[in-house]
Amino acid sequence: MAVINCPNCRKKISDKAKNCSHCEIDLVNLDEEKLTINKQVDKINKSQRIMTWSFIAMLMFCGGFLFYYWKNVQPGTWQYYLSAGSAISGFMIYIVTRVQLILLKRSNK
Ligand SMILES: [Zn+2]
Repeated sequence: MAVINCPNCRKKISDKAKNCSHCEIDLVNLDEEKLTINKQVDKINKSQRIMTWSFIAMLMFCGGFLFYYWKNVQPGTWQYYLSAGSAISGFMIYIVTRVQLILLKRSNK
């Protein structure tokens, strides 16, 4: 028994398996068309997940800033670290999601 990579999800599976144990794709009746559709669906799901994360990141970023200004937070208090931490991590997650989206678009070609 040899171990191969699933043509759909690229995870390691047995070459004797009829279905992939990870993504459950039918390996017996596998054809190009199905594979392409699966890949497209996978990409759409991925980009949606990234968009959700970038939305959360925006909320964290804006939330941190708004909290800081509305509450007139003094430096050194826990509110200060909370708002600064939220804004900074929101900003960083946002950058990461942007890079991921660019990479995802590039892999379409
Ligand atoms: Zn698979």
